[in-house]
Amino acid sequence: MIGIFGGTFDPVHFGHLRPALDVKQALGLDEMRMIPAFKPPHRTQPVANPGQRLTMLRAAVGDEPDLQVDHREMLREGESFMVDTLVSLRAESGDKPLCLVLGADAFLTLDEWHRWQEIPKLAHIVVTHRPGWQLNMNTASPKLQALWREHQVTDNAELAASPAGKIMLQVVTALEISATQIRALIAAGKSPRYLLPDTVWNLIRMHSLYGFAATDNPTETKIKTRSGNNRNRTLRVNK
Ligand code: ATP
Repeated sequence: MIGIFGGTFDPVHFGHLRPALDVKQALGLDEMRMIPAFKPPHRTQPVANPGQRLTMLRAAVGDEPDLQVDHREMLREGESFMVDTLVSLRAESGDKPLCLVLGADAFLTLDEWHRWQEIPKLAHIVVTHRPGWQLNMNTASPKLQALWREHQVTDNAELAASPAGKIMLQVVTALEISATQIRALIAAGKSPRYLLPDTVWNLIRMHSLYGFAATDNPTETKIKTRSGNNRNRTLRVNK
């Protein structure tokens, strides 16, 4: 089974990475593809450009064997409709089950997505809880309630048994983190550390993204070392 975790990743944070890994492990997926949108169609446009968001995602995933960065939406350009991404993944994977992972916030807007009715024909949908978002099907739109009623399963084995068409709820680590919150912290001159990988925070500072001001650069502190010939060394200290 192949997992698909799409996002704007503006920037990627631990609220993306940990749930992606949780789903991969819980469902025993063969792969979990992290797919950054070139131009997300259903929301305000990203602050960082596509190349910057892809570079941050690659830095975040690093050599983690359980996650793969798939940059097909970057190559395709134009509006990044998930249905197009699923069509291309389906063409490559034959009858292998595809599992599209959607946080509760994303799932609750699914019936506004481009050609959304085709999505359950192309992939299973794995819905994860997201702190701050109530996943109460009684308050979902009638179309989503009907989708849920018709396709819901509670056992992983049912996902493995067919290429697409089921919806399952999956518990993941609850991390109340959003890219919006991270961008706001940086713009306010505050540190977003421990909400996202340091590799990503380093890139944000290096490229002065999200309003990071040069004066906020890592403090360069001169310290005297006892080692070697006792020369002054420069130590980079992360804020
Ligand atoms: P923004 O704040 O800019 O809207 P975001 O943090 O919501 O960004 P996206 O890239 O829009 O991140 O989200 C991609 C996917 O990751 C969506 O399915 C979303 O539900 C999920 N997701 C994002 N943050 C979390 C989180 N903290 N916990 C669980 N799922 C999350």
